[in-house]
Amino acid sequence: MTLPSNALAAARLSRLRLTEDIGNKEKNKVLVVEDSRAIKELLCAYIDNIPGIQAEGACDLQEAVARLETGAQTYFIAVLDLHLPDAANGEIVDLVQSYGIPVIVMTGTVDDDIRTEMLKKNVLDYVIKQQATEIEHIAYIVGRMYENRQIKVLVIDDSPSFRAYLAQLLKNYQYQVFQAGDGLEALGTLEKHTDMALILTDYNMPRMNGLELIQAVRKDHRREDLAIIGISDVSKTGVSVLMLKSGANDFLSKPFEVEEFYCRVTQNTNMIGYVRQVKDHATRDFLTGLYNRRHLFEIGNTLHANARRGNCKIAIGLIDVDHFKKINDTHGHDIGDLVLREIAQTLKQTLRSSDIIARFGGEEFVCLVVLKDNEDCPTVFERVRQAVAAITVETNEQTIHPTASIGVNNELCESLEGMIKKADEAVYRAKAKGRNRVETADHLPGTVTMSRR
Ligand code: GH3
Ligand code: MG
Ligand code: MG
Repeated sequence: MTLPSNALAAARLSRLRLTEDIGNKEKNKVLVVEDSRAIKELLCAYIDNIPGIQAEGACDLQEAVARLETGAQTYFIAVLDLHLPDAANGEIVDLVQSYGIPVIVMTGTVDDDIRTEMLKKNVLDYVIKQQATEIEHIAYIVGRMYENRQIKVLVIDDSPSFRAYLAQLLKNYQYQVFQAGDGLEALGTLEKHTDMALILTDYNMPRMNGLELIQAVRKDHRREDLAIIGISDVSKTGVSVLMLKSGANDFLSKPFEVEEFYCRVTQNTNMIGYVRQVKDHATRDFLTGLYNRRHLFEIGNTLHANARRGNCKIAIGLIDVDHFKKINDTHGHDIGDLVLREIAQTLKQTLRSSDIIARFGGEEFVCLVVLKDNEDCPTVFERVRQAVAAITVETNEQTIHPTASIGVNNELCESLEGMIKKADEAVYRAKAKGRNRVETADHLPGTVTMSRR
């Protein structure tokens, strides 16, 4: 990759992180159709500020048509002014919807007539555009929709038609939607998708009703890890209380207003999102997304204890980037950060998902790997060394080829800390012997010697 400047590299870095996480890279644009230039530009600027998303503006129906003809598949949402110079009566909404693109409408005022019209047109939301704060709010909603693509929601109802209706409402908001016809089926889906964020469940269902389902779910999932909204007929008195007392976070009575539905769903997924963010901050390293040192010990100690009981074979690899200070000094801290991210990515790709990979300190990584019966740890980490040595990061001036010295140890010391300490001693030897090599801890026979690039 070619990096024009350090500042750009940093911007690219944060954008990369989010787009990587979010995936679905092609469909990341927002179509903004608005004839007031000032409003259009302000809104596009707010949207462009959201990492991963790009805004494209059009000032009338004609320009919008041209954009849709060439790139309709790249828009995941559109923000539209109802009244355009060449389409004064909201025709733009029907046009954009005909491409299957969900729509948010900007209006001058909101009254009952507009609300009815908007609901009829099945728009996601309608917002008054006069104030700057509202323009910012539209950008916020757009950002939320983009994030919703990563959020899993399970709809449980024995009526296929009502279930499909709820699923469609959720899909409009870009959620990943799963469906189940009763409580038992729902439990099966939950087992497969452990990262489910929200459940919407009906009360009366065959085999396992909503109340029994909530009780079963709450045995393994707390309210702040998996939100549940109970849904039932308004005439069934007492059901809401039962569901809430059994562990539902919220309740919706049928029939409901669509806006109320979206408000409750959004509030609950927001809450789950915040909890996940806090957890992520506590367990992960911000720069690389790998586990942090504290979390390595939290989960690593369990694995170590398991290995001590003879249930598995584990090994430690301590990876220390060679002459990293020089990379920083020559190319700047931002490029140094980028190199660390590339190395982290390479470690993830080279090792298995069951292995624990952590950023141990500045330019040091610890990998706690579970060895298969026929695997020996020097070979595993020789593969890692080669993968790191194959990384290239291009700057304007030159190409960086980072390398790392690796110390490995598979002696089951009394503690995980002890195992890491031995691996660290091996790193020192690898440095002393010329770097870019794998050295094994003292007790291991046949230290592997690898040549430099
Ligand atoms: P050696 O081959 O002996 O390991 O040399 P080295 O330069 O890699 O080791 P040293 O410990 O002298 O320097 C490590 C450098 O890593 C110093 C520090 O500024 C830098 N560093 C630590 N954390 C970060 C970070 O998050 N980002 C960047 N860019 N640099 C970091
Ligand atoms: Mg170091
Ligand atoms: Mg180093």
